[in-house]
Amino acid sequence: MDTHLQALSSGTAPVSDDEIGALRGVLRGCVLLPGKPGYDAARAIWNGMIDRRPGMIVQALGAADVIQGVNFAREHGVALAVRGGGHNVAGNAVCDGGIMLDLSRMRSVHVDPATHRARVEGGALLSDVDKETQAFGLAVPVGINSTTGIAGLTLGGGFGWTSRKLGLAIDNLLSVDIVTADGVLRRADATQHPDLFWAVRGGSGNFGVVTSFEFQLSSLGPQVTAGLLLHPLTDAPALMREYRRLVADAPDELTVWLVLRKAPPAPFVPAEWRDKEVLVIALCYAGPMADGEAAAAPFRALGKPIVDLVGPHPFVGWQATFDPLLTPGARNYWKSHDFKEFTDATGEALLNAVWRLPTSECEVFVGHLGGRINRVRPDATAFPRRDVEFVVNAHTRWRDPAQDTACIDWARDLFQALAPHAMGSVYVNFMPADETDRVPGAFGSNYARLAEAKRRYDPQNLFRMNQNIPSAA
Ligand SMILES: Cc1cc2nc3c(=O)[nH]c(=O)nc-3n(C[C@H](O)[C@H](O)[C@H](O)COP(=O)(O)OP(=O)(O)OC[C@H]3O[C@@H](n4cnc5c(N)ncnc54)[C@H](O)[C@@H]3O)c2cc1C
Repeated sequence: MDTHLQALSSGTAPVSDDEIGALRGVLRGCVLLPGKPGYDAARAIWNGMIDRRPGMIVQALGAADVIQGVNFAREHGVALAVRGGGHNVAGNAVCDGGIMLDLSRMRSVHVDPATHRARVEGGALLSDVDKETQAFGLAVPVGINSTTGIAGLTLGGGFGWTSRKLGLAIDNLLSVDIVTADGVLRRADATQHPDLFWAVRGGSGNFGVVTSFEFQLSSLGPQVTAGLLLHPLTDAPALMREYRRLVADAPDELTVWLVLRKAPPAPFVPAEWRDKEVLVIALCYAGPMADGEAAAAPFRALGKPIVDLVGPHPFVGWQATFDPLLTPGARNYWKSHDFKEFTDATGEALLNAVWRLPTSECEVFVGHLGGRINRVRPDATAFPRRDVEFVVNAHTRWRDPAQDTACIDWARDLFQALAPHAMGSVYVNFMPADETDRVPGAFGSNYARLAEAKRRYDPQNLFRMNQNIPSAA
């Protein structure tokens, strides 16, 4: 009997039981079909809004399996989605009816302490990378939620607590092993397929399946000066002005984010402040501990914090600080803007919205960029946004589908209110599924060159479940 999978362009593509059996026979991993054990767990991703049912899941255990999965999809003309950590808010890791190539069992990280290099498999999570590298007092700049996948994060750029000092994840990438649409495993680096290496550093999942990333590591930790300062939201106007003044002179080592939300029921939050609107100053110093204390002092002196948790923290633990607020399964919708400056008008627009949060789990992040990130030329990699100083992400999060409209509208309203003050560009990794019109803007001045790389490496657009770049004519 034939299984009918979603075809790459439209309609369905028939695949026989014998063909599925033959695929099973050559894999080290497995094929999961609807209704079979493991299928539902494999198709579940971070954003609970996404409930797609692939026709077949190929769970890869290594590059050979990835090659088989890519060849099978191409030869049968079947739609293909690639899953790394499954964290992307747009839900591109999973498709309806087609093949989901699932790398979530490929999580090994191998660190060479002598060369300060790490090779990381394409399904690894940030926590895998942090734990292995920190065992040697080493680190690579990644994001602020340790259950995020290294693959999607890196392919879109990748920034976090150490990026002002160390650059984006892609600025520390030495090579990738990537299976392109023709089913060939290629090593792309500065000298081999340099056009492909350029394109994967910011061009998202458009060019193939990365089976492993090779990173240059830097010395850091095992302790850093870091922590949270919790303030009443009523004090936010003055605090945001002081924040702007202080971060203008911040050294590269110091990264200071703002989070505006209702205080969570965390053990460190006094009972009377739980579920009340707060402004959180979150900071991390990626350098010597004593210098970190001095750099954090002016922020700790601001206002009258409800809680001051700034101090020495194990870097691995700090990297997971926000994990309890960002667990998988909730419904999520994001809207994001880039900013050159964080002005009073921007702060006012944020506050107007945060006093009207639709649920207790919604929040707005002000991410602090600049530093080394912005000292790389916009065309040196496919990541063009080298002049952004702040990223604001309206992160709406809720449980009940009946709240979908209220939550999505709240994020869109805030997005509109911020638009006059924003740069117009957006971080490709923060885009929800309905922002296809913003894709060219996300790749900016590098879009045409990316379309040319797409023509060379994926002319049929096999890899289209992403913030998609059509191939140049
Ligand atoms: C709670 C949360 C916090 C975040 N914080 C940050 C942050 O601090 N900094 C930051 O930079 N980003 C952050 N992000 C955004 C994050 O970088 C993106 O969501 C990223 O796409 C996640 O990667 P993933 O592998 O988990 O995603 P997936 O959903 O698995 O994949 C995302 C995209 O990448 C493709 N892809 C996945 N694996 C591969 C592979 N091996 N080869 C080729 N293509 C692949 C997929 O097909 C898909 O198009 C955050 C996201 C969340 C949900």
